[in-house]
Amino acid sequence: MIRRLALFVIVTALLVAAAVWLADRPGQVVIHWQGWRLDTTVPVLVLALASLALKLVRAIIGFPRHVLANRQARRTRDGYRALSDGLAAIASGDPRRARKLARRADKLLEDRSLTGLLTAQAAELSGDESDAERRFTTMVERPETAFLGLKGLLALAQKRGEQGAALDYAHRAWALGGPTDGIAATLFDLQARAGQWPEAEATLMEAKKRGAMSNGDVLHARALVLLERSRVTADPAEAVKLTLSAHKADSGFVPAATQTAALFHRLGKPRKAESVIATTWRINPHPDLVEASMALAPAETPLQRVKRVEKLVRANPDSPDGHMALAEAALAAKLWGQARTHLQAALAERPTGGLYVLLAKLEREETQDEAAAQAWLAKSTTAPAEPAWVCTKCNKSADSWSVTCPHCGTVDGLVWK
Ligand SMILES: [Zn+2]
Repeated sequence: MIRRLALFVIVTALLVAAAVWLADRPGQVVIHWQGWRLDTTVPVLVLALASLALKLVRAIIGFPRHVLANRQARRTRDGYRALSDGLAAIASGDPRRARKLARRADKLLEDRSLTGLLTAQAAELSGDESDAERRFTTMVERPETAFLGLKGLLALAQKRGEQGAALDYAHRAWALGGPTDGIAATLFDLQARAGQWPEAEATLMEAKKRGAMSNGDVLHARALVLLERSRVTADPAEAVKLTLSAHKADSGFVPAATQTAALFHRLGKPRKAESVIATTWRINPHPDLVEASMALAPAETPLQRVKRVEKLVRANPDSPDGHMALAEAALAAKLWGQARTHLQAALAERPTGGLYVLLAKLEREETQDEAAAQAWLAKSTTAPAEPAWVCTKCNKSADSWSVTCPHCGTVDGLVWK
């Protein structure tokens, strides 16, 4: 500041001295050029020339800085373009182009934190896991990119089947609080896989509070937790309380209904068992419910069974499973007409191999028409199979439902299809 002031005083003094010196030496200047005539005094001409020279010097000195600023702006612009094109290449699954653009963006943009996600994802996409891991780890260090870094590390650990490491990353990402983006469901899944049911239940409560999972998903996952807790409870009264809560959390969930019914049956409360089965049948008609209902009275006659199934199906009468269950009960009771009606209704809705086998049985038992029976059986070999519990992850089927897939261990992987 003081140096600037001193410079200002000196320059002003010099200018004043120069002006005084020029004023003391008057003189005329006349310029003739191309028919033009310019009349002026020497001081004016000197001042005009000095001002022109000053402008020229400033332009020459400022030139490189101007060029540099322009170049820097162009580099930044090209860097951002490489960054956005690279992210587009990731989205379209082009690893080679993504890596090339990531390298370009890295070179052009000075701030590496901007290019971290692109370079890490490009490395991951092209299968360079150790490079991706290194870059995601760097992202974890900055609070602004920590969540994305942890998410990347979590995905890598899951891909490698490192459950312990995955659980740790999911915990840390969840603990950051901010954007949750699928982490709640992943953390729940990892905790359930590790058998940490109380922790998984706590995650659900927190997810509900944060709005990180849909209400329906929270209720279904809670039903899983309660069902699993009931399975390991020694006290039957406590166990039925837990399964009943599971059934109430997700009333369409068949395994919760059948387990609750079985426990009520064991406690000598068949009415309650029947009510639970009927509630779920109304929402989700399923053959396991028919089986659970029949298990409540194993000594019934075929005719009593027909009555039992009729009563259950009435709450939701038009499902193919309802018609199949009624046809089977009617066949066992030799009620041929009723059996035929329901088999034909089921045939219109869902012709499966199992259905053709029942039609063949009907032809054999009612009219002893072997030719007709063989015709149905021939159809059964090419017809689609009956629905079954199939894992959404490994696509293998299981004989009965369990919380984890018996083949690949996926939690809640088994669906009826
Ligand atoms: Zn599976």
